[in-house]
Amino acid sequence: MSRVYNFSAGPAVLPEEVLRQAASEMLDYQGCGMSVMEMSHRSAAFKGIIETAEADIRELMGIPENYRVLFLQGGATQQFAAIPMNLMRNKKADYIVSGSWSKKAFKEAKLYGEARCVASSEDGNFSYVPDVDALEFAPDADYVYICQNETIYGTRYPKLPDTGDVPLVSDVSSMFLSEPMDVSRYGLVYGGVQKNVGPAGVTIVIVRDDLVREDVLPFTPTIMRYKTQADAGSLSNTPPCYGIYMCGLVFKWLKEQGGLAAMRERNVEKAQLLYDYLDQSKLFKGTARAEDRSLMNVPFVTGDVDLDAKFVAEAKGAGIESIKGHRSVGGMRASIYNAMPREGVEALVRFMEKFEAENA
Ligand SMILES: *Cc1c(COP(=O)(O)O)cnc(C)c1O
Repeated sequence: MSRVYNFSAGPAVLPEEVLRQAASEMLDYQGCGMSVMEMSHRSAAFKGIIETAEADIRELMGIPENYRVLFLQGGATQQFAAIPMNLMRNKKADYIVSGSWSKKAFKEAKLYGEARCVASSEDGNFSYVPDVDALEFAPDADYVYICQNETIYGTRYPKLPDTGDVPLVSDVSSMFLSEPMDVSRYGLVYGGVQKNVGPAGVTIVIVRDDLVREDVLPFTPTIMRYKTQADAGSLSNTPPCYGIYMCGLVFKWLKEQGGLAAMRERNVEKAQLLYDYLDQSKLFKGTARAEDRSLMNVPFVTGDVDLDAKFVAEAKGAGIESIKGHRSVGGMRASIYNAMPREGVEALVRFMEKFEAENA
């Protein structure tokens, strides 16, 4: 068996220890005589899995008591609709558009109410995050929406907007559990787990109690009401059982690694390694503004599409996988999530040095 260094943006690399544990429990989960995949979601064993997963993510993120944690399906994309349906009581929301994901969320919200784009960085091809200090939000907005780490363009908010009493809603899909965050600053934080937490199929929504209400937009499907799932402990219908189990194993792994402060330290080191190389390289260039650079997704280009293609092809030969940039921007992108070891980033930088020397 040989594993590659997988720089995919998502679904993405998972910790090898977690995959090994899942493999060892595949046929018989802790003496149950069956796989977690085969188990009733109403069984005591699965109850233990989901309750432990919730307790562990609460501990890791320091989630306050007055927030619910929901394990849902439908991907982050479903939340683009669920958020306005559940939260738009005044039918008004302010969106900051800093990349493709917040742009999609904004477009979806317009179907349900008066969504307003308060700032956009599309003029700079989303290479930066709009200055949040310059912004004014509508005091009667139901929420202010951001995508805190734009996976495709590799930007991350250097600071959060001050939204006063208006709840801040943040898509953290591609930075979930990569560093500590103060959940109390948000009304709702959510993400698809397939970037940094687990296998595709689970979306985690962390939502403040007062935003879990009956008075949602009237056409909101029952299954998409936060209240339905909050009241049922995410078991209103069959949840993505195996995915939740995998997330739970990743939470345990993160705790063993020293928690989110330790992850941040490592993630900063890994990102620095790559950015330092990019900043001095004569061939490669990072595409995001330095102050707004993501710790998780690092897009870069040579400036020559043929050379980019050659790089991607030769990288594959050197065990560096899925380094191609998103189809909408081209170039390259290295996603260096929690489970990417430092050695993987070192191998990438070594390969870039070699490629630069050969193609000078
Ligand atoms: C990948 C991604 C999405 C879309 O996630 P799906 O689970 O495929 O719907 C949304 N937001 C961000 C920031 C992402 O990285």
